[in-house]
Amino acid sequence: MKKGARAEILTIGTELLLGQTIDTNSAYIGEQLAAAGIEVYWKSSVGDHETRIREVLRTALTRSEIVIATGGLGPTEDDLTCRAIAAELSRPLILDQTVLESIRRQFSERRLVMPRNNERQAMIPDGATVLPNLCGTAPGLVIRLGGEKMVVVIPGVPSEMRSMLDAQVIPYLCKTFGVKSRIRSRTLKTCGITESALDETISDLIRLSCNPTIAILAYPGEIHIRLTVKSESETEGDRLLDDLETRIRTRLAEFLFGRDEERLEEVVGRLLLDAKATVAVAESCTGGLVCHRLTNLPGSSAYFIRGEVVYSNEAKERLLGVPRELMAEHGAVSRPVALAMAVGMRQVAGTDLALGITGIAGPGGGTATKPVGLTYIALASGDGATCCEYRFLADRDTNKLFASQKALDILRRHLLSLRYVGQI
Ligand code: AMP
Ligand code: MG
Repeated sequence: MKKGARAEILTIGTELLLGQTIDTNSAYIGEQLAAAGIEVYWKSSVGDHETRIREVLRTALTRSEIVIATGGLGPTEDDLTCRAIAAELSRPLILDQTVLESIRRQFSERRLVMPRNNERQAMIPDGATVLPNLCGTAPGLVIRLGGEKMVVVIPGVPSEMRSMLDAQVIPYLCKTFGVKSRIRSRTLKTCGITESALDETISDLIRLSCNPTIAILAYPGEIHIRLTVKSESETEGDRLLDDLETRIRTRLAEFLFGRDEERLEEVVGRLLLDAKATVAVAESCTGGLVCHRLTNLPGSSAYFIRGEVVYSNEAKERLLGVPRELMAEHGAVSRPVALAMAVGMRQVAGTDLALGITGIAGPGGGTATKPVGLTYIALASGDGATCCEYRFLADRDTNKLFASQKALDILRRHLLSLRYVGQI
């Protein structure tokens, strides 16, 4: 098999064409192939239609050495991938007893009777190598063809696809093609800085750095900096990434909160653990989102004590002791009320820290002086309470997400500042 083989991705499923399912599989496959040093030149999507699947496969095989097909391996009548590929490659479908046994076993372990149509998933094109599916019923396939070509077929279910690609397909391709130079990425995550301000801060590095390259990616409430390196060895790649990361860190300091898969709530959780601090959250407009995010982590009971969703004025008064007169005078969405919520929450829960969040998520409810998106987030600690005002400009869901992001960031910065003054 020659080196520098070209790969092509085929995603199969009518739902992908109708826009009902977003094709996340090809993004993942493309990323992993690039990381393994295998170049992807084409990608096509086709519906669950035998003739058209055959057509795209035929075209793909005229220009690519490796064709990776995903989707259409389910047990139902509309899953035609295997049949179409077998027909196009003139390989009869043969019942594979080992695959059938493995599917049967999966059903019996779940105390279920296997429907007959699952037998279809054990019909394998003659001469194909089976890739066992450890997370589902549809097996993967590798079909080696003459002329140094191969077709790899993997399931469409994203979790099954990922585990089969990572554990079986990529190692197999690396071994077969002896790919040397690898491409890897590292993501640095920031919050509290706008995309343009971030761009300005590191624009010279973006311009001058070609290995690793730097890309800026904006997400709601976070801006990521992706560093991509090409190197012959992992050590060399790590060294280049470390050098650039250090330079970026010096410039962005506390705006950088994490790396790669790390989430903001994870970083906050770790800081709370380090500080041995406890927290409670009183939420109005975010409806429990901050509590949800803080409790997404295993072990969060070590620092998260309590949350209250206090949507009505009455709830704010009854559960947190926010004075009725305060709300009458300033309105429920106001600085004094956010402060009273945080202070009240801290008292009621007996925690070291407490957040109070009140805002207008929209789309209705805004006025000239208090527009949609106006949000107050207060933090109460043993040293008193502070409050920040924000004006988010997005839709309801995103405004809630922005508010939860700011609330977590306020906690993070507070805990970091304790660290600087040596309180922890
Ligand atoms: P299938 O293997 O076609 O039965 O697909 C199983 C599940 O995976 C369905 O929910 C599909 O919508 C989903 N799926 C299939 N292909 C993709 C893809 N390219 N990206 C994301 N999800 C997919
Ligand atoms: Mg399908």
